[in-house]
Amino acid sequence: MKAAVLFEAKTPLSIEDVTIDKPAAHEVLIRTVACGVCRSDLHFVDGAYPHPLPGIPGHEAAGVVEAVGEEVRSVKVGDHVVTCLSAFCGHCEFCVTGHMSLCLGADTKRAKGAPPRLKIGDQPIAQMLNLSAYAEMMLVHEHACVAIDREMPMDRAALIGCAVTTGAGAIFNAAELVPGETVCVVGCGGIGLAAVNAAKIAGAGKIIAIDPVAEKRATAEKLGATHTIDALSETAADEVVEISRGGVHHAIEAVGRPQSAATAVKVLRRGGTATILGMMPLSEKVGLSALDLLADKKVQGALMGRNHFPVDIPRLVDFYQRGLLDLDTIIADRMPLERINDAFDELRKGDTTRSVITFA
Ligand SMILES: [Zn+2]
Ligand SMILES: [Zn+2]
Repeated sequence: MKAAVLFEAKTPLSIEDVTIDKPAAHEVLIRTVACGVCRSDLHFVDGAYPHPLPGIPGHEAAGVVEAVGEEVRSVKVGDHVVTCLSAFCGHCEFCVTGHMSLCLGADTKRAKGAPPRLKIGDQPIAQMLNLSAYAEMMLVHEHACVAIDREMPMDRAALIGCAVTTGAGAIFNAAELVPGETVCVVGCGGIGLAAVNAAKIAGAGKIIAIDPVAEKRATAEKLGATHTIDALSETAADEVVEISRGGVHHAIEAVGRPQSAATAVKVLRRGGTATILGMMPLSEKVGLSALDLLADKKVQGALMGRNHFPVDIPRLVDFYQRGLLDLDTIIADRMPLERINDAFDELRKGDTTRSVITFA
């Protein structure tokens, strides 16, 4: 099969002929139909996050089940599925206490010494984030995908696999927003826009979106932002505090820069919580000042939106089908796998919302 392989960080991906194994017990072979291009992949490509290579990135996908291994109970051949990198084992302490997105998932990978899921010639290829979706086929653990309604368009379903699950999960699962509370979303890429849209669905009062790009601010307004502010404005944080009459209850950071995390803390009212979603260079720190602590402000992470994806993803599909979740607006561009490096260039520029790789 054709796949986009990363041989070395800071070099372009190359389209190669890759061998994918047959599904073993608890594994599912999926024909990829669409895969969103997410910033986390760029961190691996640009070498900001280390990973064994060669590897195949891509982790925001939808496809059709081609074959299943023994013991697979959750999906069957022909099912339309969305994948999620939060592969969970189902029996560790995280899983049994309901925190499955924190599962370390050793059992969802093949054992050391077993044949690799992916290889090029005789050389094993690392499966990245449990999926490796920039490929015509994916071989994943059954707890890394969930069946969805067959009427759901696959290019839009793909986005739910990472950006929307993360952004909406930050609102629903991590912030636990109460209707009427105010939200500020810093950064209007795929994740930030999903957070804006989810805040509207959850019944937020004021929804204030911050981004330096006018086009993205306009998209945020379309998805539910009641106010937008230019991130380059020196008074951006003060404007949020003024609009929300003393600061917001919840701030969502979806950029991945220390300055935007600082903004997320600054715009909080007393007792407010900043949820930091953006992936920063690993040496960075996000903190609270003594004054922030006296104001009872809180900072938290929310890995993959603290999802319970087998439940969350079908619900998000339902929201789309009922016209509540606007995935049509988030997609800026569709392109074939051969243009994957162009998609990364677009992401580096930061002007577009979401590119989606589509497979014929
Ligand atoms: Zn992602
Ligand atoms: Zn587990």
